[in-house]
Amino acid sequence: MIPNIEIDSQSGFCHGVVTAIGKAEEELDRSGALYCLGDIVHNSDEVERLRNRGLITITHEQLKDLKNVKVLLRAHGEPPSTYKLAEENNIEIIDATCPVVLMLQKRIKQSYSNNSTTSKPQIVIYGKHGHAEVNGLVGQTDGEAIVVQDLSEIEKIDFSRDIELYSQTTKSLEGFQEIIEQIKLRKSPDTVFHSYDTICRQVANRVNHLKDFAMRHDLILFVSGIKSSNGRVLFNQCLSVNPDTKLLSNADELNPEWLEGKNNIGICGATSTPRWLMERVKDKCINYYTK
Ligand code: SF4
Repeated sequence: MIPNIEIDSQSGFCHGVVTAIGKAEEELDRSGALYCLGDIVHNSDEVERLRNRGLITITHEQLKDLKNVKVLLRAHGEPPSTYKLAEENNIEIIDATCPVVLMLQKRIKQSYSNNSTTSKPQIVIYGKHGHAEVNGLVGQTDGEAIVVQDLSEIEKIDFSRDIELYSQTTKSLEGFQEIIEQIKLRKSPDTVFHSYDTICRQVANRVNHLKDFAMRHDLILFVSGIKSSNGRVLFNQCLSVNPDTKLLSNADELNPEWLEGKNNIGICGATSTPRWLMERVKDKCINYYTK
């Protein structure tokens, strides 16, 4: 008998990713080829689908050698140096930076430029080292912002100076709160500390919903690319309430042993997980029960 298999209605691309892919497809329809700086989304299957349509993913190193072409900037955003390079090389930018990230970049830039050199606070970003969005944010401060990935890096902050804390949009609210508490405990009494909750609700608002979804099923198949930050966050949230939560990138990674004896299977994913990938996982499950 085929068990109940439900795909979470709220899982899948966020607005930022939908818009970026839409802009890429629009240009591909027109010209059949387009460069994209970095993976358009942290999901190799979706990247492959768009590659087959003509999207060429390039690195920052490769960008330096391009001239007179169109390049799409993905939802994560870029530092000012990328725009400068594009201008120098006569590259036309199709800017798909998510408006939420764009706003955060502006706020950090303002924070950084509003302060005189003598009383500059430290700008601290709670985020993942090397993540494209974080690189774009650090770029707003001429590379001066301090990146704190988790509590183990809290000592990188100079607690005798004023601090302004921001967050990468896809970090967890709990983690951000922990960083705030630790800064409050350690900072010198005469310093000023401001924290700005810049976590995107497209991710944060999914947490409670996903936890509820995970509790209602006896097996959770969480579909996400390994490079996805919010995928890791959301997977761990599901795992915290349902130990029978499995992470897989695509249907090929489905282990039939996971399905044995299950009556109620939930399939969900990250903001970078395409719907079609979750549907393929569902089809593979159905094949297993009907073979
Ligand atoms: S998670 Fe939020 S900030 Fe990031 S791309 Fe999606 S909508 Fe934009």
